[in-house]
Amino acid sequence: MSMTSLTEYAVTAFYKFLPLDADRLPQLRDNMEEWGKANGLIGLLIFAREGCNGTVAGAPETISQFKSFLTELLKTPDIDFKDSVSKRRPFRRLAVQLRREAVTAGREGAVDEAQRRALSPEEWHSLLESGEDVLLIDTRNAYETEIGKFRGAIDPQIEKFTEFKEFIEQAGLPKDKKVLIYCTGGIRCEKAIVDVMNAGYQDVFQLSGGILKYLEKFPNAHYEGECFVFDNRVAVRQDLTPSETYHLCPHCGQPGKEKISCLRCGDEGIICARCAEQSKLTCSKDCNYQLNFQREKKARRERARAALQGA
Ligand SMILES: [Zn+2]
Ligand SMILES: [Zn+2]
Repeated sequence: MSMTSLTEYAVTAFYKFLPLDADRLPQLRDNMEEWGKANGLIGLLIFAREGCNGTVAGAPETISQFKSFLTELLKTPDIDFKDSVSKRRPFRRLAVQLRREAVTAGREGAVDEAQRRALSPEEWHSLLESGEDVLLIDTRNAYETEIGKFRGAIDPQIEKFTEFKEFIEQAGLPKDKKVLIYCTGGIRCEKAIVDVMNAGYQDVFQLSGGILKYLEKFPNAHYEGECFVFDNRVAVRQDLTPSETYHLCPHCGQPGKEKISCLRCGDEGIICARCAEQSKLTCSKDCNYQLNFQREKKARRERARAALQGA
């Protein structure tokens, strides 16, 4: 089935922690890959011994069939899918991968069901509405919090999720307060909550389904800005439609919104603030390379000329 004709892609993000037998993983991957290719599915799916994680896109009917297929494949009835849409093709192709972890935290395993304390978007919302004095902690990376977060949330300023554990161990926040943690779709909190509890915080809750599920129910409320997502949309707005502000910076791959006129080719481009500060005022890696090459050549010529004149 050709995907090029789609005017709108259905996108769904999901994860499920459940023990998957290592011997079974290659078969799961092959089955998923085969079904996906036959049905025009694109996106990224990860299978690990601790479970699966992914975001996929396709025609709306493909995505609803995919949900049944995955549910049957994993033999688990309660996978929570977070849906959104995209007018642009959100992924180039389908990738089904086997990894050590479904989400990389540096250790396998999530919070176990007995310890897990999750708030539904409704419970989360009314707690924030109540004005209760809580510690609201974002578990995402700095390039994600930069473009949007819950009002008043503590931003750990981490570069990758594996740094969260160290952050919470050293944060020195009051341990008697209620702690609320959240991430994009909920998966990182399944691991982060273990770190927060191990660091001695007593009363810890995670946002079930993450920001994406919250925005589905409560746009323009306690979450401010846009929400970074891991596909070509870069970010989604409050109504879960793709960002029109942010693009992936061609130089470093992080979200950016600085409009520039390329110093080499003159085309308009969008880069991130950090690369703009470093004067990478070009529309692409290639233009940046060519521009530096020209500059070096010119500098060499000038040095040679100066040397001749000095002789
Ligand atoms: Zn950049
Ligand atoms: Zn250019």
